[in-house]
Amino acid sequence: MIYADNAATTKLDSDALETAMLFLTGEYGNASQPYFFAKPAKKAINEARETIAACIGAEPDEIYFTSGGTESNNWAIKNSVFPDAKMRTIITSKIEHHAVLNTCAAMELLGYPVTYLPVTDEGIVQPEKLSQYITDNTGLISVMLANNEIGTIEPIKELTRIAHEHGIRFHTDAVQAVGHIPINVKELDVDMLSASAHKFNGMKGSGFLYIRKGVELNPYVDGGSQEHGRRAGTENVAAIAAMAVALKKNCNRMEESTQRLRKLEKILLDTLTFAGVEYRRNGNDYRLPGNVNISIKGVDGEMLLHRLDLKGICISTGSACDSVNDRVSHVIEAIHVPEEYAKGTIRISFGVENTEEETLAIAEALIGILRKQVNGK
Ligand code: PLP
Repeated sequence: MIYADNAATTKLDSDALETAMLFLTGEYGNASQPYFFAKPAKKAINEARETIAACIGAEPDEIYFTSGGTESNNWAIKNSVFPDAKMRTIITSKIEHHAVLNTCAAMELLGYPVTYLPVTDEGIVQPEKLSQYITDNTGLISVMLANNEIGTIEPIKELTRIAHEHGIRFHTDAVQAVGHIPINVKELDVDMLSASAHKFNGMKGSGFLYIRKGVELNPYVDGGSQEHGRRAGTENVAAIAAMAVALKKNCNRMEESTQRLRKLEKILLDTLTFAGVEYRRNGNDYRLPGNVNISIKGVDGEMLLHRLDLKGICISTGSACDSVNDRVSHVIEAIHVPEEYAKGTIRISFGVENTEEETLAIAEALIGILRKQVNGK
């Protein structure tokens, strides 16, 4: 098996697993209890908050543990408190993940106007476009830090500057970026940032929302006093502790991983080019390391995915959450990939475990499938 769909999810890191096991089977106390047996769990949560905060330049009490990226995005967008309780407009982009797009759609049903910003053909949200779309009624701006399909990294610092000049709160979905590119929330000047552990070798069903101190955000889950009373429920200590281990490890090796992943991208693309495959690479040059999103002329991406699957190779056609929809993804549509290429879009996303041999094997498998197709087999 060759797994090259790390933007969909990643393998749990071995040290993170070891940490999780400790809190699943040994120190399994409920962190809210006052007795000695609960102390290690409480300590682990506090330490995880500190570690995660340090990795993104936040304060520990600005980190709120959630069940992952989807929940964090829902919380940030649905529970923003607009000072005068007006139906304020939300601005987002056309290429957000469905965890943001469908949250915005739910807000529209409640009567909140939503504006969807167009992007360039490289998938960039242009700051000047944001300025044009802001009105006196804008209450929240949510633009992703990096796109999950094409890997484009957005100019968040410029976007937050514009938002704050108008006194508007800014949220970013950083699910694909955390653990993969350097992030400092203070430098980016974001008010809220969403992250998901399973995208950086942590466990599925865990993540966090960074909420800048002073930002008014209604509690997401009412109940006990966990997460400063803003997100109640007994903490998933194993997943939280594992997330911190995985994030720290990824941050420590980020520079080296980036270089390695860039090399794998090059090997793949050079091999395809050399074999005469007619493709165009989507996204811009400033993209997530390991992301290769290409549209191949005159083929069906679904067919490629299934044929590669038969050879034990896992890749994606778009975002995993969208693979049931047999249509060109909203991202590929928004960046205007020409029709003869659009349906042949695939995403190969390399991770820390992929090797050069695997990369060559993927390229050769793809070339083989494409040659068979030309020969009508
Ligand atoms: N946002 C982005 C950009 C994503 O890529 C994903 C997952 O694919 C999510 C949000 C959802 O995160 P989770 O799977 O943790 O709910």
